[in-house]
Amino acid sequence: MNQHHIEVSVSRDKFKNNISHIRNIVKPSQLCVVMKANAYGHGLESLAPTAIAAGADYIGICTNPEATIIRILGSDAAKKIKLLRLRMALPEELNESIDSLNIEEQIGSIEAAKYVSEAGVKRGKKIPVHINIDTGMGRSGFFSNQIEELKLICGLPGINIVGIMTHFASSDGQDLDFTHKQIEDFYKARQVLNNYVDHNVLTHTHNSAATVRVNNEGNRLVRVGAACYGVRTSQDFQNPPELEPVMSVKTRIAQVREVPSGKTIGYGSLFTTQRDSLIASLPVGFGEGYPRALFNKGIVLIKGHPCPVVGRVSLNIITVDITDVPEPVRWGDEAVLIGTQGNKEITFEELADKFASVHTEINLMAGFMNQISYV
Ligand SMILES: *Cc1c(COP(=O)(O)O)cnc(C)c1O
Repeated sequence: MNQHHIEVSVSRDKFKNNISHIRNIVKPSQLCVVMKANAYGHGLESLAPTAIAAGADYIGICTNPEATIIRILGSDAAKKIKLLRLRMALPEELNESIDSLNIEEQIGSIEAAKYVSEAGVKRGKKIPVHINIDTGMGRSGFFSNQIEELKLICGLPGINIVGIMTHFASSDGQDLDFTHKQIEDFYKARQVLNNYVDHNVLTHTHNSAATVRVNNEGNRLVRVGAACYGVRTSQDFQNPPELEPVMSVKTRIAQVREVPSGKTIGYGSLFTTQRDSLIASLPVGFGEGYPRALFNKGIVLIKGHPCPVVGRVSLNIITVDITDVPEPVRWGDEAVLIGTQGNKEITFEELADKFASVHTEINLMAGFMNQISYV
């Protein structure tokens, strides 16, 4: 089966190179390659072996099916690689994880800690867990001043505390003041816990933006998603130039039309041609994961020129104004939705900014809604 109308391409080499580069930046810390949400839409099953080969110490996941996909890949390395769940588990998830998936869980409440400890005691083993300290993310975990609770957890018989972690709320923002406050708060709690946990415990705070921007001293593990895929969660900072986007999205032109001035285009008639125009129809829409919110806002590269999306994004069609493209444009010609053409580039970040979103949303939809070709 050939998919002619859209090409979502994922480069294993770029993924591998990005991971190697990040490994070098963070050495001697361990690296957790974050592959939740189907590897941010890039395909977990296809890329997990690459992550492992590139030297991931951990793979970060959210759900049990994600963990299962990795465990059944077949290689010894995939059976053994450490998995870290990047959110709080449900009780049923914990049972399965402890019995067969061997996921290292975050612990953010006494209730969950006791649950895991009892499960460990029942099975005669100590379950490896990471204590989650909420220093400002505000979603889960213990506050750094819940010292009595933290001490109590350290004394539970069925768990082995292998990590102490926190998560940054705005390490990708313009100003890093809040991130530095979070770090300070985290190390206060870490200090108190020193007397109660093994000195080898992995401390970890850094996501992609922090790994690129903030000194990692004191951390023995980083959790990096976006940067491994060569993207940023905001345009307020730059990635090192070695990090390249792993995914690109292209389509082709299904029709070129001469449209007179004064005609409306698309559902809701939200665009009216202001001049005699050349309009290209492209065979992708939000059914292919092109964000519907990009109506009258998206940009597409044709013959190396940025061309505006005009009118609504339909389910399977967008319309693009190519009047200003100097070269002739023909039926079947390539149109780049995300990636490079000639010497121009459209990045996930700039497209996401146009509708106040984040690269992941576009990566995800493109990956979920289309067949991916791995190159
Ligand atoms: C998703 C996630 C990460 C990775 O974030 P990126 O910005 O993609 O690097 C790290 N830590 C936790 C807890 C996460 O949920």
